[in-house]
Amino acid sequence: MQKYGGTSVADSERIAAVADHVARTVRAGNQVVVVVSAMGKTTDELIHLADQVSKTQTPREMDMLLSAGERISMSLLCLALADLGVHAISFTGSQAGIITDTSHMKAKILDIKADRLRKAIEEGKVPVVAGFQGVSTSKDVTTLGRGGSDTTAVALAATLGASVCEIYTDVSGVYTADPRVVSTARKLGTISFEEMLELASSGGRVLALRSVEFARNFNVPLHVRSSFTWEPGTWVKEEDPTMEQAVVSAISHEAQEVKITITKVPDKPGVAAQIFRSIADRGINVDMIVQNTSIDGFTDISFTAPRQDMQSAIEVTEKVAKDIGAEAVYGDKEIGRVSLVGAGMKSHPGVTAQVFETLAAQNINIEMISTSAIRISCVVRESQLEAAVLALHSAFGL
Ligand code: ADP
Ligand code: ASP
Ligand code: MG
Repeated sequence: MQKYGGTSVADSERIAAVADHVARTVRAGNQVVVVVSAMGKTTDELIHLADQVSKTQTPREMDMLLSAGERISMSLLCLALADLGVHAISFTGSQAGIITDTSHMKAKILDIKADRLRKAIEEGKVPVVAGFQGVSTSKDVTTLGRGGSDTTAVALAATLGASVCEIYTDVSGVYTADPRVVSTARKLGTISFEEMLELASSGGRVLALRSVEFARNFNVPLHVRSSFTWEPGTWVKEEDPTMEQAVVSAISHEAQEVKITITKVPDKPGVAAQIFRSIADRGINVDMIVQNTSIDGFTDISFTAPRQDMQSAIEVTEKVAKDIGAEAVYGDKEIGRVSLVGAGMKSHPGVTAQVFETLAAQNINIEMISTSAIRISCVVRESQLEAAVLALHSAFGL
């Protein structure tokens, strides 16, 4: 399985380079299935067009629109492959048998009926599948959420029993931090599924979170690498128990979230349940939650959510706040989250203290904290986010 991201197929030269690489892989005796993203910034441009013509942006029509991007790149790649004597055949998500739920723009894959792909492979053809899309149980075209082509590739790799899923992108692997922010970031040779899951869920957008979930659940090894240099990249795979684990493997950051605070919430059983049930019912993913100690029977609750869901999160929170007799709801967009991920954290005390000391030395205030067994995340002012990433990257010797 080979997946090519947007920059890898951004123009005709890139498509020719990708076609050449696919052709070489086929000639080396491999059976290959390709998944492509839309060319360059096509998806952003389509969203921009929709913004210009519509305020309502009906989700069904948005999916019709956005799925068009990947149709262009899949057919162009097949045309280029034909010139190289490779018999390639393109498939939309629907034709590839990717069945999703009905939740437009963030659909989840429920099933893959890969008969057409299997048949094409048996006939010696190279299937080229449009990433990021499927067809819902009610027969409408759906998309899988931004970055969803990774998920298409890994889910297909699992279904078809691919030996490896190569994710070709514009960096040469998974780095110790986003190389666009930290110029001294290092490429990792391997990273475990668990660590990659934490990285992907905390802003390391090199792989979409759902794709890593699939890879872990079906044990599909991923090889993240560059389509510009074609050099060996980073392997994402099951942890090797004989290897010593790094205390901190990588640092990620996320600047696309909001903090929502509800003040003077009556401190009694069931209130938090009511708030977060309403938010969940809107399909909003809440990340960090902080509740203060109560004073005189009242408390403040803050949580973070994706910035794109801000309007809807505030609306529903204001409604519940009224129902439960809380005082007010505030939204704060100027936040950023920095996270440290490392499997060795489990057995090393003192990481948290060192994180706090490092941020304090930079005069960076921590507004929220959350941890898992192998991750520490802090919310800081967005204006200080890059400084926090750089300071932590050097403090932990990455
Ligand atoms: P594609 O279009 O190929 O899917 P993306 O833009 O989705 O590419 O993902 C690649 C980008 O991820 C890189 O250009 C890089 O800026 C960013 N990135 C963030 N964190 C990391 C990291 N830890 N290692 C490598 N890349 C990262
Ligand atoms: N084209 C889609 C996006 O830009 C999917 C992807 O590239 O993975 O989000
Ligand atoms: Mg991507």
